[in-house]
Amino acid sequence: MKTFTLDQAASTDGALRCLDQGAQAIAGGTNLVDLMKLQIAVPQRLVSIRKTGLDEISADGAGLRIGAMVTNADCAADLRVRKEWPLLAKAILAGASPQLRNRATTGGNLCQRTRCGYFYDTTQACNKRDPFSGCAAREGFNRIHAVLGTSDACIATYPGDMAVAMLALDAEVLTESPSGARQIPVSEFHRMPGDDPARDNVLEPGELITAVRLPAPTGGVQLYRKVRDRASYAFALVSVAVDLAMEEGRISRCALAFGSLGTVPWRDTAVEEVLVGEKPSPELFAKAADVLLRDAHGFGDNDFKIPLAARALAATLSEATRSGKA
Ligand code: SF4
Repeated sequence: MKTFTLDQAASTDGALRCLDQGAQAIAGGTNLVDLMKLQIAVPQRLVSIRKTGLDEISADGAGLRIGAMVTNADCAADLRVRKEWPLLAKAILAGASPQLRNRATTGGNLCQRTRCGYFYDTTQACNKRDPFSGCAAREGFNRIHAVLGTSDACIATYPGDMAVAMLALDAEVLTESPSGARQIPVSEFHRMPGDDPARDNVLEPGELITAVRLPAPTGGVQLYRKVRDRASYAFALVSVAVDLAMEEGRISRCALAFGSLGTVPWRDTAVEEVLVGEKPSPELFAKAADVLLRDAHGFGDNDFKIPLAARALAATLSEATRSGKA
């Protein structure tokens, strides 16, 4: 590991001053420290935001404000989250291990980097790690890679679970920077790779995530289905988050988001439009999957994700519509 300096910020303003001077923020460090050990990230200066007071969960109007330093474990254990936004608790608990969830934070989780093996192997070409060097995954072993939102430059998935639930729940990322505060919908936070895969999200230099805001609870049926190679401590091959309501035997409201399918947490409102107002049936679920996957494209090893996503969607909708019958 290269040497670096570490500052402890005692407030958000203090952290912003360090960021303005070129420091990089470190929260739980569960991804960044790995990247530093491999010299994929080589910050000369870090500022810890652990003691900035951003570790509170508080009511925000009818919704909830989750501080950036709230750990994943504390967020998933919060009684308000478990009762009113159970999708978020389920998604968090489906991710990582208890030890990691004790350390990983709300803000850091949103910023975690891909788990593409070639990104972590510095002997391989990777446009995300080393711009314009190429993409070893396209012709390499790409079983975990994306089938939606890819580009010639990069086909890596966003690997997390928490952000997928937040996307279905219409959450917002709250940030501060010297140029002011921003409220960024989670749907606009992550960037598709295009021809610049090195940037994973829309954070500007010097900008700090301070919280995530959840809107008022919907009262719908909320499920998170994660399909993976083993039952714990594995990234998703495909995951489905749903928040759905039924009225008189028909789907009256539906929000769907997908993980590990696209290069970013994936939401496509055209899929939801297919479902709303209809009676649940296998044919309807298949039609929704056709819309979801109309532009899906595999790269060989990950071709299986396309039919897997269709089956995961059907299974999730079947369970949600049975639970939500009204
Ligand atoms: Fe790098 Fe993206 Fe290609 Fe993986 S898929 S090797 S992260 S450019």
